[in-house]
Amino acid sequence: MRDTQTSELVESIVQISRQKNGDDLRLSLLKTVMEAMNADSTRFLRQVRGRSGTVWLEEYQALRAPQNPAGYALRLSGSSPVQLSGPMATCAAAGTALQAAGPDGRWQHILPVLEGGLVRELIVVQVPDNSANEFRLTRAIVQLYQNYLDLVRSGERDTLTGLLNRRSLETRVSRLRLAGQQAGRGDDEASGHWLAAIDIDHFKRVNDNFGHLFGDEVLLLVSRVMQQCFRGDDLLFRYGGEEFIAILEAASQIEARAALERLREQVSAYRFPQLGQVTVSIGFVELRPGAQMSESVGHADQALYHAKAHGRNQVCSYDDLVSLQVAPTAQMNSAVEMF
Ligand code: GH3
Ligand code: MG
Ligand code: MG
Repeated sequence: MRDTQTSELVESIVQISRQKNGDDLRLSLLKTVMEAMNADSTRFLRQVRGRSGTVWLEEYQALRAPQNPAGYALRLSGSSPVQLSGPMATCAAAGTALQAAGPDGRWQHILPVLEGGLVRELIVVQVPDNSANEFRLTRAIVQLYQNYLDLVRSGERDTLTGLLNRRSLETRVSRLRLAGQQAGRGDDEASGHWLAAIDIDHFKRVNDNFGHLFGDEVLLLVSRVMQQCFRGDDLLFRYGGEEFIAILEAASQIEARAALERLREQVSAYRFPQLGQVTVSIGFVELRPGAQMSESVGHADQALYHAKAHGRNQVCSYDDLVSLQVAPTAQMNSAVEMF
């Protein structure tokens, strides 16, 4: 490798280590692979969980474009599912990197990226030269990406439940806003996203009667029910001790309420070992693109407090409170404790 190439590679790797979120990390990876491997193309595929099971989507594609100053062009691919076949299917099933001749006889390096021991992403690099050294270099770059991705993910997640943590709420919501702006949505338009504050009812009694460790087990089980109930692209956060925040995509308030009612019912129908029934109260509000995060959380809290004050085990919408002219009280803000 020429000296300039080596220094470009090192700079590119430094860029990878600077990224603080998964998307930027992915773009950095594509850049590094394109430059270091002098690749013809690099495809980035990700497995996502939709309503009807898991599918593979091609999210990004980088293509060699000598007329472009960077030497390649990056494009966000469509969101139509990709049917994995041949070596890509083998790589996804076995979880091991492989080299294979592509349809046009050119060589491909296909590399898996894991999450929780499962293959969740595939990097497919079309290389002009294929040697043991080239393959080792692609693997090393993808391994570096995997290591940083693990670090980013562990910093974003709560250690008990594996849900996103409170710290990552702001970043995730900013990302949604950015996507809304890119789609040309104004500040007062409907975002199609709803923020729900979910709080376990009388959780203190669980701790008092069965102990804190047992309480932790209940938190874990409730978070599992939440994960199974919502769609893979909805966002779930452990916001505080026994308080969660969900950000859901829904076209209308009726649809958002239906999803939250389903969660409420599933939690109350779940048989918790020894304990039997646990219930949750939920307050929700539309996530307006122009609203401050603290304001949206505050409004969901007010609706949550209303649900608590009116019998618990129920879902309450902030917009309904406003249209019913239920005056907010100072106490409302304490439903979700800040700490
Ligand atoms: P309400 O229906 O009004 O929400 O009643 P509650 O008992 O759930 O509400 P309160 O906020 O008074 O109590 C919450 C309790 O949750 C108090 C605290 O001991 C417990 N808690 C907070 N974080 C954790 C945790 O990480 N693990 C366990 N086991 N308990 C926790
Ligand atoms: Mg509670
Ligand atoms: Mg609470």
